[in-house]
Order: sequence, then C-alpha cells, then structure tokens
Amino acid sequence: MGIATGEWHPANSSRAIPAVLREDGILLVAAEEERVLASAVPERTEISPRVGSIPRRVSFPDGSVFETRDNDGIDTYLRGKRGARSGLIHRLEQFHPRLILMTLAVILLATTIYRFAVPVLVEVAVLVTPPFVPELIGSGTLASLDRTILKPSELPEGERQAISEGFSKLATHSKGGQGAYDLYFRDGVIGPNAFALPDGSLILTDDLVKLANGDREMILGVLGHEIAHVEGEHSLRQLYRAAGVAALVMLIAGDVGSGVEDILTQGGALVALSYSRAAEAEADRRSVELMRAAGYDPAALARFFVVLEDKLGDHGDASILSSHPGTPQRQQDIRNYAAELEGRLQAR
Ligand SMILES: [Zn+2]
Repeated sequence: MGIATGEWHPANSSRAIPAVLREDGILLVAAEEERVLASAVPERTEISPRVGSIPRRVSFPDGSVFETRDNDGIDTYLRGKRGARSGLIHRLEQFHPRLILMTLAVILLATTIYRFAVPVLVEVAVLVTPPFVPELIGSGTLASLDRTILKPSELPEGERQAISEGFSKLATHSKGGQGAYDLYFRDGVIGPNAFALPDGSLILTDDLVKLANGDREMILGVLGHEIAHVEGEHSLRQLYRAAGVAALVMLIAGDVGSGVEDILTQGGALVALSYSRAAEAEADRRSVELMRAAGYDPAALARFFVVLEDKLGDHGDASILSSHPGTPQRQQDIRNYAAELEGRLQAR
C-alpha cells in the first residue's frame, strides 16, 4: 500500500520516473517494478507544506525528490504520524521541564522566606511596633469577637469581683504593672478558654470559671500564664507571623492587601493561633513566678490542666486544650519549677 503516487526526480536531474511513495518501516520511493529509488527514515526527509493544489515535494537526504499531486494521500500519512506522536512524546512535549523548574524554584523561595525571612521580619516588626498598634489590634479584635463569638458574661457579680481582685494582685508583679492589663469576662461558644490580646486585654470565659468549680487560684494560675504571653509579646509575634505567611501566600497568589488587614483585626485568627512550645513553657514558668509573688499556690496552673483533661478528655477541640495541651510532662514541669523556686528562695 502506497502513500501516494507521483514522479521521482533523481538528484540534480530533470528526469522524471513514475514511482510510488511508501512507508515500510522507513519512507521509500519505489518504481513500478518494485525497485527502490530512494529511502530514508521519516525524520530525515522533508515534506513541503500544502499550498492549494501545488504538487507536494518529499525531499530525500540524497538530494532526490518525490513529487505528487496526491495532497490528500500525503496529509493522511502526516496525520497518522502525528497521531502516533500524540502518544507519549506529544504529552512529554506539553510537560514543559522549564515550567516544572520554575515551580520548584518558587516553592523553594517561598519555603526559604518562610523559614528564615519571616522569623526575622517578625522580630523586627515587634521591635518597631509603636504602642498604638497593639492597642488598635486589641480593641479591634475584642470588638470583632464581641460581634461574632462572644457574649456578655453571666457570672455573678461577686464571683467576677473576686477574680478581678486576684488578677490585679498578679498584674502588680508583672512587667508592665497593674495598669498594663485589663480583664474581660465573656461567655460564648469557645468553651473553657482564656486568652490574651497584644494590648494586655485578657479574656476569660464563663465556662473556664465554671470548670474551676470554685478553685480561684486555679483560674489565677491560668491568668498568670496569659499575662506572660503579653509580657513576652507572644501574641503580637504570632499575629505578625500569621500575617507574614498570609502576605506570602497572597504575594504568590497575586493579591496583597486587604487579607493581611483582615488577619490583624479579625478575632477568629487570634483565637485559633497557638503559641510555640517554647512560648508555652515560658508562660507556664512565669505563671509560677507571678503566683508565688502574689502569695498564691505557685503550681495552681498544673491543677488546672489536670481538671481540664479530666473534664474534657480529648474532645475539647474548641477549648483552651487545643492551644494548651496539658500533657503530664507539662504539669510535672510546672510543679518542678515551683519546687525549684521554693528551694532557691529558702536557701537564701
Ligand atoms: Zn499559653
């Protein structure tokens, strides 16, 4: 079966020999008596493009040319060839290696920025943050939380009064002093929780107070822990980190702007943030120090974690447990530090 019939012209000759173009593993031109006039692998031949009804020319490496008016025959042959190529090779061609390299480079760059640049930028941002920024974030966050997930506290006034007094005693011994902190009582859907905003606002939920079941020192231990998060500027740091990561994501996605602002002012993000283990350990130790300084049981915080685990088990996912895993190790660390402080102070 031939691809097309036509004439073959030897190299540098005007002779025209009737011939058939065939594919037989290779592309070959055969004369009537099956004599092969020219042959080559298809890649080494050149087929002229279709232009109206002008005869097509198939040039062979030896300089000979096969000429045919059977345009359709040639086209059918070419389509068949492309069809075979549209298998693996064609797909490989669409799979641009350069695109893969670019993608890898972008991922690498983003990872590098995340690992090295974001922590540095966060520290710089914390250093240069003017005092009004935490104020703004704090008040903005509390307002947005009050609109969304928080409700006014329903605790008895006397209960709130007693906790507030203990809290003031703790805050007196903190870095910023009593004036640097405000305690807000709230009810809401976030379960037993307590968290600090960067401006020194601490939010304590009714559920946490109820969970303590009258053990006020336990609550104060938690508040001491939260004061430490403010002292260490942990939440500001976390917030900047989240904003930095979001900015990075949006930079790659091509939309920087409103999203970062949202993260800085929307409360949900802050509640969901969890601190690093180092920040948690630091806050635990500081709670022990503050509680001791205020004349309370230094290890009361450890008691809180015991109660929390007993009452909530593993299904306290919206609670303080998710950001404050009260592992036995952690409880032990708190007790050890309390004992250590006691020993150190008695030895003086
Ligand atoms: Zn914490």
